[in-house]
Amino acid sequence: MAKQIVMLGPPGAGKGTQAKRLSEKLGIPHVSSGDIFRENLREQTELGKRAEVYVNRGELVPDDLTIAMIRERISRPDCDDGVLLDGFPRTAPQAEALDDMLEALDKGQVDAVPCIVLPDEVLIERLTGRRTCRAQGHIFHITFNPPKEAGICDFDGSELYQRQDDTVETVTNRIRVYLEQTQPLIDYYQQRGVLLEVDGDQSIDMVFDEIISVLVGVQGA
Ligand code: AMP
Repeated sequence: MAKQIVMLGPPGAGKGTQAKRLSEKLGIPHVSSGDIFRENLREQTELGKRAEVYVNRGELVPDDLTIAMIRERISRPDCDDGVLLDGFPRTAPQAEALDDMLEALDKGQVDAVPCIVLPDEVLIERLTGRRTCRAQGHIFHITFNPPKEAGICDFDGSELYQRQDDTVETVTNRIRVYLEQTQPLIDYYQQRGVLLEVDGDQSIDMVFDEIISVLVGVQGA
C-alpha cells in the first residue's frame, strides 16, 4: 500500500483520529504538525515560543519555521518506510518543500492524499463542542461524546477545557484559513492524480473503511 501519505481535511473533519488509526494499520509514523507545535508550546521550547502567537490565533505558522520542523521530523529513521503526514502541508509552498525533502531523502514522492470532505456548519458544531483533558489530552465532545461527569476526564479525572483555538471565532477563522490556503494544495494533488476524496459525514468506522478502500486502489498498493 502507499507509504508517503498526506491526509487532508478541514479542522474538525476527524482527520487526526483517522490518521492515527491508519498509521497503526500501515505501521508508519503519524506525524501531526499541530501536535508537534502544541507539544513545543507546552514545553516552551524556542520553536514553541516562536509559534505561540500564530497557533493561539488560529493562523498559520510561517512556512520557514514549519518546513524546518517537518524536515527534521521526517529525517528520523522511524520514517524510513514511509510516513503519514497530518496537518502538513497546508499551503502550496509547503507542498513543494515536501516534494524537495522527499527527493533529497530518497523517499520517492507523495503517493496518496486522502481528503476528508464535510460541510462548514457540521465542522463548526463539532469543533466548538470539543473538550480536551488537561493532563493527557484525551478528547470529548459535549454532545457527540460527553464525559460521564461534565467537565471531568473519564480516564484520569483531570479538568476538561476548551482549547483556545476551539472557540467560535477561532474555529471560523481556522476554516476560512483552511479554505483560502489549502484549495491550491487540493488542486495541486488533484492535478498529480493522487487526491482521494472521502465523505467525512459518516461514522468514524465508515470513514476509515472508505479511506482504506480508496488507498487499496492506489497503484503500488
Ligand atoms: P491543527 O491541530 O492541525 O489544527 O493545528 C493547530 C495550529 O498549529 C494551526 O492553527 C496553526 O497555527 C499551526 N499549524 C499546524 N500545522 C501547520 C502548518 N502545516 N503550517 C502552518 N501552521 C500550522
